[in-house]
Amino acid sequence: MSAAATYDLGKLHGGLRLPAEKSVATAGQILRAPIPDQLVLPLTQHVGNPSQPIVSIGEYVLKGQLIADTDGSLGAPVHASSSGKIIAIEPWPVSRRYGDTAPCIIIECDGQDQAIETSEIIVDYTRLDPDSLLQKILQGGIVGLGGAVFPTAQKLMQAVTAPLDYLILNGVECEPYISCDDMLMREYAHDVLCGAQILMHALGLPHCQVAVESDKPQALIALGEALGEMDDKRIVLKQVPTIYPSGGEDQLVQLVTNKEVPTGGLPTDVGCVVQNVATAAAINRWVSHGEPLICRVTTVTGEGVVKPVNVLVRLGTTVADIITLAGGYTDQANQLVIGGPMTGKSVSTDRVPLVKATNCVLVLVDAIGEANAKPCIRCGECAEVCPIQLLPQQLYWFSCADNEAKLREFGLTDCIECGCCDLVCPSHIALTSDFRMAKGRMRELADEKARAKRARQRFETRNLRVLLEQEQRDEELAAQKETAREIGPEAIRAIVARARKKPAGDQDEDK
Ligand code: SF4
Ligand code: SF4
Repeated sequence: MSAAATYDLGKLHGGLRLPAEKSVATAGQILRAPIPDQLVLPLTQHVGNPSQPIVSIGEYVLKGQLIADTDGSLGAPVHASSSGKIIAIEPWPVSRRYGDTAPCIIIECDGQDQAIETSEIIVDYTRLDPDSLLQKILQGGIVGLGGAVFPTAQKLMQAVTAPLDYLILNGVECEPYISCDDMLMREYAHDVLCGAQILMHALGLPHCQVAVESDKPQALIALGEALGEMDDKRIVLKQVPTIYPSGGEDQLVQLVTNKEVPTGGLPTDVGCVVQNVATAAAINRWVSHGEPLICRVTTVTGEGVVKPVNVLVRLGTTVADIITLAGGYTDQANQLVIGGPMTGKSVSTDRVPLVKATNCVLVLVDAIGEANAKPCIRCGECAEVCPIQLLPQQLYWFSCADNEAKLREFGLTDCIECGCCDLVCPSHIALTSDFRMAKGRMRELADEKARAKRARQRFETRNLRVLLEQEQRDEELAAQKETAREIGPEAIRAIVARARKKPAGDQDEDK
C-alpha cells in the first residue's frame, strides 16, 4: 500500500459494536448479473419529485437512453439500463418507505444490450468550469448511493455556496450484512478515486479524505495501490474505527474532522461535503465513460439464501431474478428486507425492482420485530446508545401522546433512524419504526399547514384585489362628480336645453 492510512481519535457518542455477518458475501468476487427478461424502472428512485416519462409504450430504447426526466425541481433523470421495448408505464410494487406501489416504466429486454452512442457524452472534465460539470453530473441521474438517494448534483450545487474545507468520501459500511461498498472499493478502486478527482474539480477543493473502516483491510490495500498508480497527493486515505453507525454523514464528519454538525444543520455548516464511494465511482462512469447511473453493486445475503453474494446488477432487475444468482431461497427463509437489518424495510413480494438506493437484499430466517413489546421500564439504555444524544424513551412517550410540539423540542427530526435504541431495549419496543411514523405524521402536518397557509395567502390576495378595485371605482366616481361640479349647474342646464331642442331623429342617432 503506497498511501499511509491514519487512525483517527475522533469520538462518536453512543453507537454499537455489532456482529459484521459479511464474510460469506465477500468470499468471492462481484458477480455480473445477466440481462433479465424485463426491467422495472420506478420514476421515483430519489429524494424529490417523480421524473416525467419522455418515452411511449411500444417505443424501442437503447441502454443508457434517457427515459424519464426531472421537471426542473429537485429530482434525478432515469435511464434505460438495457435495450428493448417499452411495454408499460404503470404502478408496480416497490420498496418504499411510504406507499407500496409506484409508477414504473417497464422494458421488455431484447437481450442485445445495445447502447447509445457515447462519443458526444464523454467529456474532459478538466476543461469544464464547475457549473458546467455540475450540470453534467445532473444529467447522469446520479444520486447518493449510500442510501440517502439525494440528487448528487443538487447537493453539490448547495454545497458550493458555502465555505468548504473538506471533501470526505464515505467508505464506511457499518451496518451488518451489507458489503457492496467494501467489494466496490476492492474491485473498482480506480473508479472511486477518479470520482474523487472529479468531485474536487466540481467543488474547487484541493483535498479529499477517503474514510474506510478498520475492518476492511482489502479495500484499503486496493485503494492504496490505485492511489499509488495515480500519484495524486491531494487524496488521503483515512481509517476510522468500526462502530455502528459511524457511516452516518454527521457521525463521519465528527470522526474524520472532530467537528460537530449543529442540530438541524448540514455538514456544509462545518465546511464538509460527504459523498459515498459508490456515488464517486458512478460519477466517474458517467463523466469519463458516458455511462449514466444504470447499474450498481448490491449485496444479496442472509441465512435465507443459499449462497450470499455481491452482484453488479442493472437497475430495474427484480429481487426474484437476483435471488436466483444467490442460489435461491433456503427452506428457512422467513423475511425479505430491502436494506440492512437496522435500517432496511421489509417487503412482502420479491417482484419489487432493485433501484438506485438498493444496497442490500437481505433474507432472514428469524423475522425482525416479532417479539411482543412490554412497557418501558425507564432503564435509559436507549439514551446510552443514541448517536445523536436524544432521549428515545421521552420521544416514545411524546409520540404515543401525539405531542408534536414536544417531539420537535426533544429533537425527533434529528433522529437518523439508526435502530440502536431498538436493539438494546429490554422491553422490545419498536422505537425506530414508531419514530419513523411520527416523523411521517409531522411531515404530513407540516404539508397541511403549508397548504393552509398558501390558501390563506390566496384568499388575502383576492380580498386585497377586490378592495383595490373598489377603491379605484370610488376614485373614478369621485372624479366624475368633480368634473360635473367643475362644469357647473348653468352649463348642465344649457346642455339639457340643447338636448330638448333637438328633433326626435337626431336624439335617436345620439343614442
Ligand atoms: S433511531 Fe433515532 S432515537 Fe434511536 S438511537 Fe438512532 S438516532 Fe437515536
Ligand atoms: S431502552 Fe426501552 S425500556 Fe429502557 S428506557 Fe428505553 S424505551 Fe424504556
